[in-house]
Amino acid sequence: MSTTAALRTRDLSKVYRAGEVETTALSGIHLTVDRGEFVALMGPSGCGKSTLLGLLGLLDAPTSGTYELGGVDVTSLSRRQQALTRRGQIGFVFQSFNLIDELTVEQNVALPLRYLGTSRAEAEERATAALERVGMAHRRGHRPSQLSGGQQQRVAVARAVVAEPPLVLADEPTGNLDTENGTAVMSLLSDLHAAGTTLVMVTHSEADASHAQRVLRMLDGRVIGEDRLGRYAPPTGPETVTQALAGVS
Ligand code: ADP
Repeated sequence: MSTTAALRTRDLSKVYRAGEVETTALSGIHLTVDRGEFVALMGPSGCGKSTLLGLLGLLDAPTSGTYELGGVDVTSLSRRQQALTRRGQIGFVFQSFNLIDELTVEQNVALPLRYLGTSRAEAEERATAALERVGMAHRRGHRPSQLSGGQQQRVAVARAVVAEPPLVLADEPTGNLDTENGTAVMSLLSDLHAAGTTLVMVTHSEADASHAQRVLRMLDGRVIGEDRLGRYAPPTGPETVTQALAGVS
């Protein structure tokens, strides 16, 4: 595997079986995403975008094929090893935010670090710092349901990056937001990319996809084409996520 590849799939397929009924959600996906690359996945509803993102995020297992993440064949790892890999290396941003309302904003953001064994005090300190970067530290004691959708998604971005994962996966991150909040969230994701984070994002929005370097077009479980937008030079900005987001509030 090339040392510049963040991830690579070979002949990845996913078939859902419900009784007698089989649905081929993905078929023969060969995908390489370079380190630091920002890739958008687009295509009509039901074409397999979320299924692919779920496989890349180790949330689900493929029916066949292989998946290498950071040079490691993660399809051959145990479920427990996969969970550890997911916690350490992948951040998620979902359309529905997926924050836990029984926890405060700060506790939500600290959760990935707590799963990694970080002490409570350090996790809360780093969570506060991550919230400051997305302009939400002043709401750290609130419950997610007390925030607007745009604010919740900013918190979700803080949670996705608090452990500084090399890969961030986003599933329609602006799908539930108005234009202004959607633009703000895309700006945060672009900052992450500028800081060297590899990003794979599912979107229905051409405007959101225009932030990516490459757009993969999917249909019926396959990648049927790609557009290289080519307006990105390799990242020349701040070295770390922390530095990149320092100016964001
Ligand atoms: P998209 O994200 O592009 O809308 P999905 O990945 O959600 O597409 O779905 C791809 C196909 O797989 C669809 O035909 C969908 O109905 C089917 N599918 C998705 N999840 C399941 C599941 N858990 N069980 C059965 N079929 C599923």
